[in-house]
Amino acid sequence: MKLHEYQSKTIFAKYGIPIPKGRVAATAEEAKHIAEELGGRVVIKSQVLVGGRGKAGGIRVAKTADEAEQLAQQILTMKIKDLPVRKVLVDEAAAIEHEIYFAITNDRAAKKPVMIASAAGGVDIEEVAATTPEKIIKVHIDPLLGLRDYQARDIAASIDMPRELWRDFGKIASGLWQAYLDTDATLAEINPLVITKDKRLMALDGKMMIDDNALFRHSKLADIRDIDEEVPAETEARRYGLSFIKLDGNIGCMVNGAGLAMTSMDIVKLFGGEPANFLDIGGGAGADKVAAAMRIIVSDPSVQAVLINIFGGITRGDEVARGILTAMDEVKPKVPMVVRLVGTNAEEGRKLLENAKMITAETLADAAQKAVAAAKG
Ligand code: GDP
Ligand code: MN
Repeated sequence: MKLHEYQSKTIFAKYGIPIPKGRVAATAEEAKHIAEELGGRVVIKSQVLVGGRGKAGGIRVAKTADEAEQLAQQILTMKIKDLPVRKVLVDEAAAIEHEIYFAITNDRAAKKPVMIASAAGGVDIEEVAATTPEKIIKVHIDPLLGLRDYQARDIAASIDMPRELWRDFGKIASGLWQAYLDTDATLAEINPLVITKDKRLMALDGKMMIDDNALFRHSKLADIRDIDEEVPAETEARRYGLSFIKLDGNIGCMVNGAGLAMTSMDIVKLFGGEPANFLDIGGGAGADKVAAAMRIIVSDPSVQAVLINIFGGITRGDEVARGILTAMDEVKPKVPMVVRLVGTNAEEGRKLLENAKMITAETLADAAQKAVAAAKG
């Protein structure tokens, strides 16, 4: 789950990380009031869950409250990377001397959290990472020991931070680490962390991602999820307890078990296809859950064929077949379907599907090849 900038910065502030004064507005009028309250220059910031807002014109500095109103009006009618802007953050504008990148995320390969920092922060950080990776500093954090003071100092030194700011940077680093830990985040990012003209550190932008699998113990965070900003299929999937991630390919995949789903996607790729999604219907899924999964898959216009790969253990083949038939009844999908069903009640399942004009397959390799061929024409 991604948090908006204003939500992330509210969390940062609780952990002692300095942020600009400001509030969120849903209308230009509100934005004007906030600008008046803050008195002086403000920055109007679109709140959408994508990066690159600055480059898209979604971050603008206003010199007066009237200008703030105008700019908010403009930004509130924008779409950034297809997402309509519904809210703006009105923050006191900062006088920036220098922009730093600073983040904590998981390094899956190292099996540890990692702090990432760069003196070349700001809107071009992706380019910096691609063209001059030596400007990106990485320091791993031992999850049992936590962040040590010397590690924050090492980072400060590596990015040539002025000596007099090291102490404050240490507080920001430990605040970000604690925020990251306490919220079960997978990313806590400040870009830019600025040095202001009057030599203070401040988090001008904030981005957090929370591990969905930990949300059960963060009910307050779960409540602020902005479902307006999600791919609708993912919202729908969560409602039915399906693990679903939309991808760019054209072969819809319906599989039970995350491992089998990954394997199925790999094999689709091996035979030259591209999966349109990851979908794990889970163990013991009943017919209604299967039907929901099928609806989600075929409502994606880029899906040209569907591969159903079910290994019946706790999940029963006949239940899956019934779910597929229910969904086919409702949605009447026009794309070819390839089904491989083995294990518990597979025979009963196959019988139910016999009349449903499905392409059947014996093995996963066979099923994947048939799905790839079907998607091609
Ligand atoms: P992003 O483009 O989505 O990452 O949005 P950011 O919040 O990082 O803003 C993009 C850029 O706008 C920053 O890197 C700054 O250069 C600039 N910016 C943001 N806030 C302020 C501000 O208060 N004052 C000034 N002068 N520039 C700002
Ligand atoms: Mn940013």
